[in-house]
Formats: sequence, structure tokens, C-alpha cells
Amino acid sequence: MFGIRKGATLKHKNIMIVEDDFMNMRLVQHILESEGCNVTRAANAQEALEQLASFKPDLMLVDIQLPDIDGRVLIKMLKDRPETRHIKILALTACAMKGDREGILRIGCDAYISKPIDIKDFTTTLREFV
Ligand code: MN
Repeated sequence: MFGIRKGATLKHKNIMIVEDDFMNMRLVQHILESEGCNVTRAANAQEALEQLASFKPDLMLVDIQLPDIDGRVLIKMLKDRPETRHIKILALTACAMKGDREGILRIGCDAYISKPIDIKDFTTTLREFV
């Protein structure tokens, strides 16, 4: 590994999507699979935590508005655990206000992606962080 490079390939990266919105999940999964990623999906925080027992993601995309717990709580849990602390996390959220963005980055997210997702910006951001 040579650290983060702009334009790095996404091929064969393990990525977990934590998202309860079906259409958004399908869109993100489609984009990632087109890039050659290995994708696993979780519809809530509980599923994400269960899947982490067997799937070791390089990167997680975490929706902030999840049905069981706040995505920020999940992210903080992952960043507090030694075994998941290294996983890069990009937050997915519809709350695009400046204050929200700063709050999300403060809890340890590597970046922030606003919904609705712009496919070109999305893949550019992903390549910067894998
Ligand atoms: Mn949601």
C-alpha cells in the first residue's frame, strides 16, 4: 500500500454500504460494482455490525439517517473500536447544511457525500479515499 492517491483504482476493494433507502442503495451498489468493487449491503446499523464479523471492508459508506440508530452513533462506535478504527468511512446524507457537515467530519468520517448522489462526484470522492 502506498497511501491515498488521487485516481486510485476501486477494483477489488471491499466496500460496505449501510443505507436504508432501497433506490439509493441500488444506485450506489451499481456504481461500485461497475468499478469492480466487492460490495456488501446493510439496511441498518445492526446488520452492519453483524456483517463486520465476516466482511472486512476497506471502506464503508454510511447513511446518517438509519432506521435503528443515528448513523453518527454507528460511525463513532466504529471509530472507537480498535478492530474497525482503520476502516475509511464516507457519510451519505441528505442534510447538506454546513453545521451538519462539520459535525459529521468531527466524529471521524473521512468525507461527506450529499444526497441525491452525483455519480461523477461520487466516484471522484471514492477514488480519493480508497
Ligand atoms: Mn436513510
